[in-house]
Amino acid sequence: MKNFFGEEIKKTVFISNEQIINATLGEIYGKYFEDTEIINIYPTELQGTGELLGEIFDIGTKPSAGFCGIRNGSSVDFYYDGEKLNVEIYELYQDIFSRNKGILETPIMNNKRVVILGCGSVGSLVALELARAGVGNFVLADPDTLEYHNLCRHQCGIEDVGDLKVNALSRKIRNINPKANIVKFDGVIENIPKEILDDFCEPGETVFVGCADNRTADVYSNRISIYYKSSFVSIGFWERAYAGEIFYHIPRQGMPCYECALGYGSNLSVRAEANHHVYSNQENIEGVKFEPGISVDINFITSIGIKLIIDILNNNNDNYRPRLLNNLTQYTLICNTSDPEIGGEMVEIFSYPLQVTTSLKVGFGKQCEGKCKYEVEENND
Ligand SMILES: [Zn+2]
Repeated sequence: MKNFFGEEIKKTVFISNEQIINATLGEIYGKYFEDTEIINIYPTELQGTGELLGEIFDIGTKPSAGFCGIRNGSSVDFYYDGEKLNVEIYELYQDIFSRNKGILETPIMNNKRVVILGCGSVGSLVALELARAGVGNFVLADPDTLEYHNLCRHQCGIEDVGDLKVNALSRKIRNINPKANIVKFDGVIENIPKEILDDFCEPGETVFVGCADNRTADVYSNRISIYYKSSFVSIGFWERAYAGEIFYHIPRQGMPCYECALGYGSNLSVRAEANHHVYSNQENIEGVKFEPGISVDINFITSIGIKLIIDILNNNNDNYRPRLLNNLTQYTLICNTSDPEIGGEMVEIFSYPLQVTTSLKVGFGKQCEGKCKYEVEENND
């Protein structure tokens, strides 16, 4: 086959360094692309998924017809119909000094831990962006099954419909970082077994991310994050994601918790009762407008939350300069529109579209006397 420039394309094999070194005999899986003549052998953790490409035989075997590998000492030679192929070796991490090709940029984030509480549109984006940023450890909690009507704003696709959201998202994370450590729980946040979190959480390395569709669950998430001396970020939305809110809490820094903030902070209590989710009742209302793009509205606000999570995960790293952490207050409101014709009177508090507020102050609950009661409880243990 020839490429656009009329040059002959030679078949090329992509394989991980690890598989070359530990090559086991037998079937190999991955994907072959006819147009580029690239045979992509999946990493060890994903073997058994994808297409059956061929087999690896022991040294001394004559290459079979089609695709095969022949083990050769600590290496493997690959053949197609007896002709030896180019091999490009990849690794999990890129090495900026040796310029080797890697899936991920840096191993620095590998020990970071996130507990994703809610794996819908928000949680799925948070998980995949953090995987791309190199986070190596995830707890995924969600009781729901992925359905067709979720797809217009979820990171998973048709191939995942019908499976639990935690399973579908776990596959997508492994598709970016095949070595990610993932613990799944298919239930509501309040029922996560304590042993899961006892094993998983490391103080200073862990962030709990509240992506539930109701505030009560996120209040509970913040309580357990305090118990585990871990940080907490909640990402929530107003109707149809016209605006959203991001709250964070870092333990031992004298900050009010989410419950304090919702209950007693200035002008927040009005919304404390409301659910923060993006589902609309407007389908039932006459004269509904043409409003495409709810996913991009969700993702804009969620991305700001993810930047904040990356800042918090690196809070103890002197070589890291935070992007947002020192500029946002504990409770940030963000709008996609400030037009009340679109977003209703709630969005009138914003002056312009895409505004990120930095003025909102939150306070401690009345009974907390300047120190969050959950931090006090936890300190008495
Ligand atoms: Zn509190």
